Amino acid sequence: MKTLVPVLGDQLSLSLSSLRAADPSETVVLMMEVAEETTYVRHHKQKIAYILSAMRHHAEALAKAGWTVDYVRLDDPDNAGSFTGEIARAVQRHAPERIVVTEAGEWRVMAMIEGWETLFGISVDIRADDRFLASHAEFDAWAEGRKELRMEFFYREMRRKTALLMDGNKPVGGRWNFDKENRKPAKTDLFMPRPHAFEPDAMTAEVLALVEARFADHPGSLEGFAYAVTANDAEKQAAYFLAKALPQFGDYEDAMLTGERFLWHSILSPYINSGLLDPVDLCRRAEAEYRAGRVPLNSVEGYIRQIIGWREYMRGIYWREGPDYVSRNFLRHTRKLPGWYWTGDTDMHCLKEAIGQTLATAHAHHIQRLMVTGNFALLIGADPAEVHRWYLEVYIDAYEWVELPNTLGMSQFGDGGLLGSKPYVSSGAYIDRMSDYCSHCRYDVKQRVGADACPYNALYWDFLARHEKKLGDNPRLRMPYNTWNKQSAQSRKETRIQAETFLRALDKSTGTGY
Ligand SMILES: Cc1cc2nc3c(=O)[nH]c(=O)nc-3n(C[C@H](O)[C@H](O)[C@H](O)COP(=O)(O)OP(=O)(O)OC[C@H]3O[C@@H](n4cnc5c(N)ncnc54)[C@H](O)[C@@H]3O)c2cc1C
Ligand code: SF4
Repeated sequence: MKTLVPVLGDQLSLSLSSLRAADPSETVVLMMEVAEETTYVRHHKQKIAYILSAMRHHAEALAKAGWTVDYVRLDDPDNAGSFTGEIARAVQRHAPERIVVTEAGEWRVMAMIEGWETLFGISVDIRADDRFLASHAEFDAWAEGRKELRMEFFYREMRRKTALLMDGNKPVGGRWNFDKENRKPAKTDLFMPRPHAFEPDAMTAEVLALVEARFADHPGSLEGFAYAVTANDAEKQAAYFLAKALPQFGDYEDAMLTGERFLWHSILSPYINSGLLDPVDLCRRAEAEYRAGRVPLNSVEGYIRQIIGWREYMRGIYWREGPDYVSRNFLRHTRKLPGWYWTGDTDMHCLKEAIGQTLATAHAHHIQRLMVTGNFALLIGADPAEVHRWYLEVYIDAYEWVELPNTLGMSQFGDGGLLGSKPYVSSGAYIDRMSDYCSHCRYDVKQRVGADACPYNALYWDFLARHEKKLGDNPRLRMPYNTWNKQSAQSRKETRIQAETFLRALDKSTGTGY
């Protein structure tokens, strides 16, 4: 029976469930570079280049493994421009009797796939994506009937399921979570591992030229593109991370330093999310480093929690909440993001650093995303759907199933606390504690009002004051509300005027990127 197996850009795994269900001797694997996927948001140039180059290299790997691959390039003059259009052309070319496909990572593409059977009149077998630990049904069963969904409890289930860091049915070290030990600020004189820089080969060079010519108006720069685009090279970065950075990953997980883009982070998310690396394999290897005495428990537990905890949890929430999750806006925020989110041209040093490196590399680490750009967007009351679009555009690892819950749920509190128990807001003091940014900034992090005051400070208190009705009874915000309400009426008034003046000036001066 002739089978067509479409392999999407984030399905670059040789052991994909759809491939396992097909016989190479009777199958055509279809890979499609389509305009719709590159432009439905204005993806960062490096993100497009990475995906296209990784797809082209993966097509070669599939062919080497014995598959017949039909590859449609973006610049093919007959390219239909969409997945469904390309499936229609492939059905004509190959006359398959069935399509086997691994489920898509997002609602938009899943809706297309679900329409193919009716549209083309052939059977479409949609396989579960078992590169994830928890199936949709498993996550829903876990969530069902719970008053509150909290990652920590889901994570424990995943630890039990995988037996990662378990001694029998007890967590190794007697605790599930060692996060309290993972909040050290870093110093510039510490040894800093640098991720591998991969020299573009001829195939990547061709893609870079294509992207430069075709997506010139997209954010970011291609200069210095250094990502791995093959499973072999991604594996080199993984081995390097496990040996060199993982030992201190935990201690400095939340730290930020001027000019240091990667610190002790793995920089593996693009490879994991597109399928070049297997997340559970990485966790098992991280555990082996701990068991061999080379990595402390706080580091390895922190790393494993990010993957089998947060990553799986985000996916579960995304699919459970449905396609309208994207339009939630609990705090009714409507402000446009300032135009300098696309240029980095601001005198707030923390934002300049986080946005600058984002535009240069399509990467920023978690705390930069959450407590610098995300925190600022939430404090100014930016529209969460617009903030979501920005994160989806600018990060190389951004696919909606993982980016949306992180942005709209965790960072912007758009779901009103479904995903996290309180909004991630802070004054400048947090950024000062975790980074050296404030010592390079023209603003004074210790001041709340006045021309030199750090804008985060007044914005933070103004945010709490503006939303007291909705957030005032949140137990995790009791302390800051008590502090705010103890201040004199005059001091509160001055703070709010400071915030309003800043916001008015922001709206006037910057324009918007959208
Ligand atoms: C507003 C916002 C948007 C984000 N958008 C994305 C996104 O589009 N894609 C994405 O993969 N991550 C996203 N994250 C999570 C996190 O920032 C990135 O996974 C991480 O920075 C990737 O870099 P790394 O591989 O060096 O991670 P490391 O710090 O080395 O962490 C190890 C791994 O854990 C996983 N991980 C860590 N935190 C999370 C998380 N919160 N959710 C899911 N996986 C996690 C990643 O696979 C990562 O490779 C977002 C976070 C925030 C606050
Ligand atoms: S002083 Fe404020 S604006 Fe400047 S780096 Fe610190 S937190 Fe950012």
